[in-house]
Amino acid sequence: MSSFWEATKTRLQRAEELVGLEPEMVELLSKPMRVLEFQIPLRMDNGKVQIFTAYRVCHNDALGPTKDGTRITPDLTLDEVKALALIMTIKHAVVDIPAGGGKGGIAADAMKLSERELERLCRAYIRRLSPKGAWVDIPGADIGTSYKTQAWMLDEYEQIMGFHSPAAINDKPAIVGGSLGGEEATGRGLFYIALAVSKSKALIPQSCRVVIQGFGTVGSNVAKLLSNEGFKIIAVGDIRGAISDSSGLDIPALVNQVEQTGSIIDSPGARAISNQELLETDCEILIPAAVENVINEENASRVKAEIIIEGANGPLTPSADKLLSDKGITIIPDIVANSGGIIVCQFERTQGLYDMYWDIDTIHERLKTRILKAYKETVNTASEMGISLREAAWVNALRKVGQAIRMRGWV
Ligand code: NAD
Repeated sequence: MSSFWEATKTRLQRAEELVGLEPEMVELLSKPMRVLEFQIPLRMDNGKVQIFTAYRVCHNDALGPTKDGTRITPDLTLDEVKALALIMTIKHAVVDIPAGGGKGGIAADAMKLSERELERLCRAYIRRLSPKGAWVDIPGADIGTSYKTQAWMLDEYEQIMGFHSPAAINDKPAIVGGSLGGEEATGRGLFYIALAVSKSKALIPQSCRVVIQGFGTVGSNVAKLLSNEGFKIIAVGDIRGAISDSSGLDIPALVNQVEQTGSIIDSPGARAISNQELLETDCEILIPAAVENVINEENASRVKAEIIIEGANGPLTPSADKLLSDKGITIIPDIVANSGGIIVCQFERTQGLYDMYWDIDTIHERLKTRILKAYKETVNTASEMGISLREAAWVNALRKVGQAIRMRGWV
C-alpha cells in the first residue's frame, strides 16, 4: 500500500466522521468506482518495442463526469493514481464544479523519450483507453504532459470518432478549442485568495511582505499579480536556490531573467539565501508553490509567516499542519487555494460543448467569483464547526458529494 493513498484515505475518514456519513457511503467512497490498468507496447525510434503500464481511475461520478489530469512519470503506481482521483472528487466538489474525480497516467520517463516517441505514446494511450467523451470522463494534463501532448490526444480521439469534439480532452491549446487563461489560472486563483485573506486581516498590500517558493507556472504568475497590486515580494526560491531583498524584489525583471537563464539565482542586487531560510523568512504571507512536504516536523516551528497559502499540492506534512494551526497561523489549504487551474479546466469543457469561446476578462471574472465563493464557504464552515480550514473544505465537499449520491438513490 502506498502511504499517499493511505494518507488520503485517512483524511477522507476524518472528514466522513465530521460529516457523519452513512457506513455504505463511507464504503463507496473508500474505493474508486472504476479502475483501468493496461499495457502499451510502443515501437521506439531504435526499432525495439518497449512496454509501458498505463492507468485511468474514475473515483466517483455522482456530481458529474469524471475529469482531470494524465501524469507521465517513471515511478507512477496505481495507488498514486487512486489517491489523486479521490482528491479530484473532493477538489471539484469544493469549488462547485459538476464533475467527479478522475486521474490517469503512464509509468514512463517523458524526458527520456524523443518527441516522436512521446507523441506515439500519447496517441496509443488514447486508442487503448478509448475515452467515451465529454459526458463520461475527460483526461487533462498533469506532470509530464502539456498543451502539446493534450493536442495530440485530442487529435487522436477526434480521428477515431470521425468528428470534432473539443470538450473531450482538457488542457489543450486555444487554437484547437482550448480556453484562454489556462496557464495563469492557478496563480491567478492564489492571487484572489491572497487579496481576500489579507483584506480579512486588515493588511494593506504595501505593508504585506510575501515569500514564494517555486517560480514556475504557479509561483511566477502569483508573484507577477501580487507585485502589480503593490504587495512586497521579499523572497523567492526555485530548485537551484533562493534570493531575498527586504525592500522588495523586482518581479518583472526576475521573470525576464528566468526566461533567459532558467533560474532566479544570481539576480543582481538580491541576497542569496537557502531554500530553508526562504521558508523561515519573517513575512505576512508564505506561498509554497513548488513541491510537497517542504514544511515538515524539521522546520515548522521556525516558520514565521502569519498566513500560508498552499500553491503546491501537499506542501505541509500533517504534523507541520497541526503544529502551525495550533500556533494560530492561517493556512489556506491546497484544495481551495490552488483550484484556479481546475476551475478554468471546467470553463474549457463548457466552452468546448457550446463551441463559443469567452474573452479573457470573462474568464478572470468567473474564476474570481467561483474561487472566492469556495473560500468563503470554507471559512464559514470552519468557524461554525470549530475546525481547521482544511477540514472544513473536505467537509463541504463531502456534504455535496454525499447529497448527490443520496439523490441518485445509490445508498
Ligand atoms: P513548474 O514545474 O512550472 O515549477 C515548479 C517550480 O518549483 C520551479 O521554479 C522549480 O525550480 C521549483 N522547485 C522544484 N523542486 C523544488 C524544490 N525541491 N525546492 C524548491 N523549489 C523547487 O510547476 P508548477 O506548475 O508551477 O507547479 C508547482 C506546484 O503547484 C506543484 O506542486 C503542482 O502540483 C502544483 N499545482 C500546479 C497547478 C498548475 O496549474 N500548474 C495546479 C494545481 C497545483
